[in-house]
Amino acid sequence: MDWLASALYQGRRQGSAAGVAVTKHGRTARYTRPVALGEIEVKPHRLFVALAVFGIATMSHAAVLPVLVIHGGAGVIKRDMTPVREKAVRAALTLALQNGYAQLKAGKPALDAVTAAIVVLEDDPNFNAGKGSVFTHDGKNEMDAAIMDGNTQRAGSVADVQRIKNPILLARAVMEKSPHVMLAGEGAEAFAQSIGMPLVDPSYFRTEERWQQLQKALKEDAGKQAHADVETAKHFGTVGAVALDAEGHLAAGTSTGGMTDKRWGRIGDSPIIGAGTYANSGCAVSGTGWGEFYIRTVAAHEICMKVTQMREPLKLAAAEVINQEIPSMGGNGGAIALDTDGHIAIPFNTDGMYRGWIGADGVPHVAIYGDEDDGIAEPPAPASAGSADQP
Ligand code: ASP
Repeated sequence: MDWLASALYQGRRQGSAAGVAVTKHGRTARYTRPVALGEIEVKPHRLFVALAVFGIATMSHAAVLPVLVIHGGAGVIKRDMTPVREKAVRAALTLALQNGYAQLKAGKPALDAVTAAIVVLEDDPNFNAGKGSVFTHDGKNEMDAAIMDGNTQRAGSVADVQRIKNPILLARAVMEKSPHVMLAGEGAEAFAQSIGMPLVDPSYFRTEERWQQLQKALKEDAGKQAHADVETAKHFGTVGAVALDAEGHLAAGTSTGGMTDKRWGRIGDSPIIGAGTYANSGCAVSGTGWGEFYIRTVAAHEICMKVTQMREPLKLAAAEVINQEIPSMGGNGGAIALDTDGHIAIPFNTDGMYRGWIGADGVPHVAIYGDEDDGIAEPPAPASAGSADQP
């Protein structure tokens, strides 16, 4: 029965897209895509047991409790925020959780929850996505977004869009209505028009606060005062969501204005599948932080591979990438991660991170500061903590 235990384990961890099959040649084969039934020899008693197992698995599938986790960016977030702003941020995070979770409660797919939550945050000027996006060196708002369906591993993303009110909606449309995965700039906007998505005037995205942040960064550039802390302050407020739906399927999405003072058509990690955004049948991740480092570590994919291939607990996998790999290279930031068992990880190595989650009890949990309890237990110390990998 080893094969069955193994098949069960694989099926539970990776869903229907992965498992173990007995081939015609009597070998046990690990597969990561559906295997044609004709390729598999199934003995009658095994067929009976397999059907029974399938029935149980299907029943337990229906019992998956949906979960939604969101972030509104990691960075320099100290307790000197005005009460008015703090209240507004907490209210927006709460609304995003409620809108996204309403989709899950209604039996809608994880993709819908991710989309609904991110739209709320894109529309809120307190976050660096959609309205309120940061300014480039040339005084423009250039936005990136991506979405990925873990069940099918379909994905859509847009980069450097300047006239799309909700970039996450265009990313989703790229996934669902185009033969491509990633569209950029004017081409992405032409695609938007071709599917009837209206363009907005670039002035829609402007906020005075973000404009002043650019003026400060430009002064620092001119005075050559740039240093590590300034880089840290340049990224802040990206939004993202990961969700687990009642079918046991995961999805991830991220939307951002990128980094203040970015130049030359710079594109960050958020729209790059595997870097800032990734989901498969066992894990979903949305990152936020200094994008260059998330690209170089392929951070979101790295976390998910540790979970689905190396069988690491989600919290350990996420902590290893966010709190070890990225800082060891000089980067910083955070991430939200979710697995098919509903485990949540929210590691970050910055002062704070706008974050929240909602699960079985339907109560939104929201936190901002690093020392604030977000209701998520701390990850166990990495097993390799004493290894030579440590700086
Ligand atoms: N990761 C984003 C970027 O580099 C910025 C952020 O998350 O704050 O574009």
